[in-house]
Amino acid sequence: MMSALSRSDFPLLAASPRLVYLDSAATTQKPRAVLDAIRDFYESDNANPHRGAYALSVRATQRYHDARARVAKFLGVSDTDCLIFTRGTTESLNLVAASWGRANVRAGDEIVVTGAEHHANFVPWQQLAIETGARFRICELTADGAIDLDRLRAMLGSKTKVVAFAHVSNVLGTIAPVREIVELAHGVGAIAVCDGAQAAPHLTVRFDASGVDFFAASGHKMLGPMGIGVLAGRRALLDAMPPFLTGGDMIEFVEDEHSTWNRLPHKFEAGTPNAAGAVGLAAAVGVLERVGMDAVRAHELALVGAAYRRLAAIDGVRIYGPGPEDRSGVLSFNVGDVHPHDLATILDSHHVCIRAGHHCAQPLMRRLGVSATARASFYVYNDDADIDALVNGVMAAREMFSRVGA
Ligand code: PMP
Repeated sequence: MMSALSRSDFPLLAASPRLVYLDSAATTQKPRAVLDAIRDFYESDNANPHRGAYALSVRATQRYHDARARVAKFLGVSDTDCLIFTRGTTESLNLVAASWGRANVRAGDEIVVTGAEHHANFVPWQQLAIETGARFRICELTADGAIDLDRLRAMLGSKTKVVAFAHVSNVLGTIAPVREIVELAHGVGAIAVCDGAQAAPHLTVRFDASGVDFFAASGHKMLGPMGIGVLAGRRALLDAMPPFLTGGDMIEFVEDEHSTWNRLPHKFEAGTPNAAGAVGLAAAVGVLERVGMDAVRAHELALVGAAYRRLAAIDGVRIYGPGPEDRSGVLSFNVGDVHPHDLATILDSHHVCIRAGHHCAQPLMRRLGVSATARASFYVYNDDADIDALVNGVMAAREMFSRVGA
């Protein structure tokens, strides 16, 4: 199986030929094109965007503006002003819960999330419910971890104000039926909020066509830098919302007693923006576009399918979530009684990086009846040799623990 991109495109991987990086759901490695773009911004065009009347600042502003247009196009957002740069998915979802939520959610209203949410799409809604007196409801999953549309339909009603869900689960790799969820939410007059942290890096995202009201993603999970992410939202909703953070750049006029707000997207981008991060994210998007999202997806499906079948054949391995044909490039599993942290440590001694723990999804762990899992996640730079290393490491761990147990 060919990699979609070569390891030589990624300086960290090129410098560590033995490293098997299988933790891209946590963060991806960065291609040279992204590192070069960040460096080039600071070396050639660095000034504070929107602040200066001199040519250098105009260039910095232009590069930030171009980055927004490029990322918006990649995500299928035609109204570029409705693509807001944030620090990442967590901040994007907090922005919606705090700003839209406080303006629109009242005591007695209902907020619905699923049992598979990352804490970033769970805790802000839970806290909004506590603050407002709204009811926080959790839609339970099907046996294989999918969103149960019948159950969701039955839960929704005139009190429902928000349905918040992950497009792709970071633990199970389950891909949500976005259109159906949006239709159900809109059918009762609720908004649909989509956590796209694990979707934007792996699937073609068309925000406009999807119908979701808000979509959040993180640059660092899609070959981009840390500290930059996006929130896409519908203009009518964003225009009506109060700001999230206040300060420089996001104002129109500041009187002694009150202030008025700048137009979109600036209303939601208080303070000096992470312009270099945005430029880096735009470069990442360029790399993904060159590979093609269909090719990214096909590559991952092949890898996750092969890994699934080989791990499932090992005695004592339990894999969580749907079958190999129907998932994103994430594989959560346990190996007999071996604690996932021990497994990760043993794999690390084989130069294999996996994640172990609750994956910021404690409510889902409770539903799976485990305290933690191991998780291997695949991306454009992985290949068959990485699966060999994973499988060999898991077998070695199993062997070691069966000897200890004997
Ligand atoms: N949602 C999901 C599904 C995620 O996988 C993650 C990252 N693990 C987040 C939200 C939070 O992303 P960030 O830490 O980049 O804000």
